[in-house]
Parts: sequence; C-alpha cells; structure tokens
Amino acid sequence: MTQELHIVGGGMAGSEAAWQAANMGVQVVLHEMRPKVKTFAHQTGNLGEMVCSNSFRSDDSEQNAVGLLHWEMRAADGLIIDTAHRHRLPAGGALAVDREPFAETVTARLKAHANIRISYEEITDLPADGQWIIATGPLTSQGLGAAIQARTGSDALAFFDAIAPIVYYDSIDMSKAWMQSRYDKGETEEEQRAYLNCPMDKETYEAFIDALLAADKTEFHEGETAGYFDGCLPIEVMAERGRETLRHGPMKPVGLTNPHQPDVKAHAVVQLRRDNALGTLFNIVGFQTKMKYGAQKEVLRMIPGLENAQFARLGGIHRNTFLNSPTLLDAQMRLKSQPNIRFAGQITGVEGYVESAAMGLLAGRLAAAEILGRDLPPLPQDSAHGALVHHITGGAEAKTFQPMNVNFGLFRPLDGVRGGRRGRKDRYRGYTDRAKEVWTDWLAAQRVDAAAAE
Ligand SMILES: Cc1cc2nc3c(=O)[nH]c(=O)nc-3n(C[C@H](O)[C@H](O)[C@H](O)COP(=O)(O)OP(=O)(O)OC[C@H]3O[C@@H](n4cnc5c(N)ncnc54)[C@H](O)[C@@H]3O)c2cc1C
Repeated sequence: MTQELHIVGGGMAGSEAAWQAANMGVQVVLHEMRPKVKTFAHQTGNLGEMVCSNSFRSDDSEQNAVGLLHWEMRAADGLIIDTAHRHRLPAGGALAVDREPFAETVTARLKAHANIRISYEEITDLPADGQWIIATGPLTSQGLGAAIQARTGSDALAFFDAIAPIVYYDSIDMSKAWMQSRYDKGETEEEQRAYLNCPMDKETYEAFIDALLAADKTEFHEGETAGYFDGCLPIEVMAERGRETLRHGPMKPVGLTNPHQPDVKAHAVVQLRRDNALGTLFNIVGFQTKMKYGAQKEVLRMIPGLENAQFARLGGIHRNTFLNSPTLLDAQMRLKSQPNIRFAGQITGVEGYVESAAMGLLAGRLAAAEILGRDLPPLPQDSAHGALVHHITGGAEAKTFQPMNVNFGLFRPLDGVRGGRRGRKDRYRGYTDRAKEVWTDWLAAQRVDAAAAE
C-alpha cells in the first residue's frame, strides 16, 4: 500500500494537484475548510471556485504565454482547463467560464474519482510527517498562516502584495533612459549600472502628478482591510500627501547624471530595477499603486522612456498570503527545511487562476512521483510551466520578490530571432513552438516511465 498524499485547499491549485496525483494512482485526501470556515471572497462550498473575474484570459497558444499554459495543461489532461472548456462562454479570444457550473463540475469530478477522498476541515498546522501539498491560496486561514510563518520566519511570508508595475526591457526607449546606480554605488560595474533611469523635467513632473491624482483607483474589497505600511505606500497616496512627496521619495533626482543631456539636471527621476536574472523584466521601483489598469498604463506611459512601455504585469495592492519562494522552496516546490511539504498555487508567488492551477498540476505530479518512487525527467525550463516554476524557485530576485503572472519575459531568449517590437510576433511563435515540443517530450517520457513501472 503506497503512502497517501494530503492536499490542503481545494481551490485552483489543490483541485488540479489532487486530479493529477490521483490519475497517477496515488490515494489523495483533499482537505478543504469551506463551507465550515469561510473567506471574505469565496461564496460557496464548491471546489475550484473562481473568486472574482470569470476569465482564464487569452486562449491563444501561439502568441500569448497564458494561452500557452492552457495548451500545456490540456496536453497534461488538466482538470481545471478541461472543465473550463466544457463551460466556456463566448468571449472572443479569451477563455471565459460559466463559473457556477464550472465549480460544480470540478467538485463532482473530484468526488467521483476512486482515488480521492474529500475532508471538509481546516488544517491549522504544518504536519511533521507524511506527504503534503499546501495550496491554501491568497486567503490562507489565519491559523495555518501563523504556523507557516512560525516555520519559515516572519520575513518569508507576506500577507499583502504591493506590486510595482513590471515592464519588458525591450519596450523601453534607451535613447531617453540610461543605466546608473545613484552615486555609482557598487563594487562592480554591473552594480554601478544596476538601475535604469527615466528623467523628468518640471513640466512633465507636474503633469504626471495631476494625472496621478485624477486617475481612477480601485478600492479594497469588503473585509480586505489594509493599513498601508509606510514602506509600501501607493504612489497616488504619496502624491495626495503633497505634490513634492514623490520627488523626495522614489522619484528623487539625486546622484544621477543623464548621459544623453549631461548639462541638464533632471527635476525628478523614475528608477527601474532588474526583476529577473535574464534581464528581460524591470520593475518600477517604489511604484506600487491601486490605480485601475487602464489608468495605470496611461499615466505610466507619460514617463519619458516608457511612452511605448509594454507591461509584463501592472501594479496592485491586495490581501495575498505568499511565500518568499526563491529562498524557501527547492526546484521540486518542496520546503527546503521540511521536504515532506510542498506548496502550490498562489501561495508560491504566482498570480492568477491559470498560473495557480498550473503550479498545482506540477506539484501533484511531483508529489505522486515521489510517493511512487519514480524519477520524473527534469522539468523543461523552456515550457511555460517550467519558466514559471523556475522564476519562483530561483530566477526571481528574492529581496524584491512579488507575485508574478506567466509572461514571455520569463522565457530564455531564442537564438536567431529579431528583438524589439518588430520581431515580437516571430519571437512569441518561437517561444511557443519550443515550449510545446519540450512539454510534449516531458509528458511522453512520463508515460513510458509509468508503463515500465506497471
Ligand atoms: C479578492 C480576490 C480577487 C481575485 N481576483 C482574481 C481574478 O479576477 N482573476 C484571477 O485570475 N485571479 C484572481 N485572484 C487570485 C485568485 O485567488 C487566484 O488566482 C486563485 O484562486 C488561486 O488559486 P489557489 O488554488 O492558489 O487558491 P484558492 O483558489 O483561493 O484556493 C485555496 C483554497 O484553500 C482553502 N483554505 C485556505 N486555508 C485553508 C486551511 N487552513 N485548511 C483548509 N483549507 C484552506 C480555501 O477555502 C480555498 O478553497 C483573486 C484573489 C482575491 C483574494
């Protein structure tokens, strides 16, 4: 008799993890606290409930990284993506879903699976033994959150995300921006050129502040109260405190010389910092914001150098429980200090229904393989699943780690394709073709392995 796999949380990640592991022949116990214990966002006791929008975003697997994740999940017999397709609503190129029948079907399929048992209870501790996957999401219950924090350290678990927008490097106009750390600080040339600077004259700064104050903002959800910590005030709140506040905070112009105009002193400077080891993504330092997405793009494109910026993700501040995965998790998504526990879903620092389900798919397969004593072939980094899990477990900067959507900036560059805006279509097609090939091989190798084990 093989060991059972316990999965905590029956949301996007936990439901998918249970399905994948059970299909590999492992006995699964899925622990879900709803409907006994509620969250402020979930409305039902169903598994796989979509808490807000009913969209799985783009279904285009050739030109879009989320669409590619859909494709990979379908190829891996994913429960969430297959059920989403069964309850698809018309939405152009997006995969919109009829949420109630979707969650009801996810629940029914999991309940009907011979290898899955569902236990409706809250888990409040990290068990010392057995195989576990924690997939309790952004609204992890207080008791379990406290237990995770006690085990990992208070810096390693966040309860809010304060996300600064992230820009694709190749969409930044480097004829206006330049690389330099304030006062050229740093031992190496790389450190002395660690920041990307966008200068503003007085007129541009004043117009920027006006736009920031006038922009549409989102409110916190009921029950999602957040006192702002002074270290991560939204930029619009700083601007409300005084028109000069940003110029003395994240936009201070000191210690920098613009090589394009060495004699002109900038009135303010917006700084961006590398967000991944590949150097394809840059976050706008200190620019967490609650501006609505449309307004955010308009206001940020007023920054000289960012007029044509493409965003890998926009900023936000939300209630969100997530780990500092780059320091805590190994490449197999296990807690380094306690490898009988894996994490999956949004709590690992990915963001979104699709990304969370994808991390559940991986965690379920990895845990089942470990229980069955099978070595899975190494996960291909050039697949969408591989690029995302590589980012959260090592590729991202641990110090500034914030939740991430899947995007092409996480993919290793391709040889021989054109950079910049013009080459984008071919480049994206190159990424998706390469990903599909390596993902198909990875899945096929597991089928051979499973057949050999029978
Ligand atoms: C208010 C809000 C709005 C959002 N809007 C969107 C959106 O529009 N689009 C989008 O893509 N993403 C959105 N998200 C993010 C979304 O929650 C995730 O993308 C996705 O649901 C995460 O999947 P998950 O499986 O990690 O967590 P969840 O889907 O939240 O599942 C976690 C499950 O664990 C259970 N649980 C928690 N603690 C315990 C415990 N101690 N014991 C047992 N069970 C427990 C919960 O009841 C829940 O069922 C939103 C999040 C929030 C909070």
